[in-house]
Amino acid sequence: MSKIGRKEYLTIGLILICTILFAIIHSSIVYRGQEISMSRAFVYFGTSFLGGLMIFGIPIFIIYLISVVYSQRKTKAPIPLIKSIPEEGMKYCSNCGEKIKKNATFCEFCGSKQ
Ligand SMILES: [Zn+2]
Repeated sequence: MSKIGRKEYLTIGLILICTILFAIIHSSIVYRGQEISMSRAFVYFGTSFLGGLMIFGIPIFIIYLISVVYSQRKTKAPIPLIKSIPEEGMKYCSNCGEKIKKNATFCEFCGSKQ
């Protein structure tokens, strides 16, 4: 039932942007001035990335879930069935309800006499 739409892309994008920004800022502040090897730097960045994922990923995902539930509840609301007023020279069939010509003696859809 679930399909990937604009909301899903927006959620994933927002989480990734926040997490990457957090990882860059966090690792550059915490490990600033340290003489570290490239592999250690990757480990530090990875740790910061996971931390950022916990900090931003979970709340953004919860907000996303709430918005999905809210929008589903909104669309499930009953839509009132209002029949439009027929156009000039038209009427609705007394049997099937299709729009037919006002002067028609028989319905062109169901064939019932008008
Ligand atoms: Zn009819």
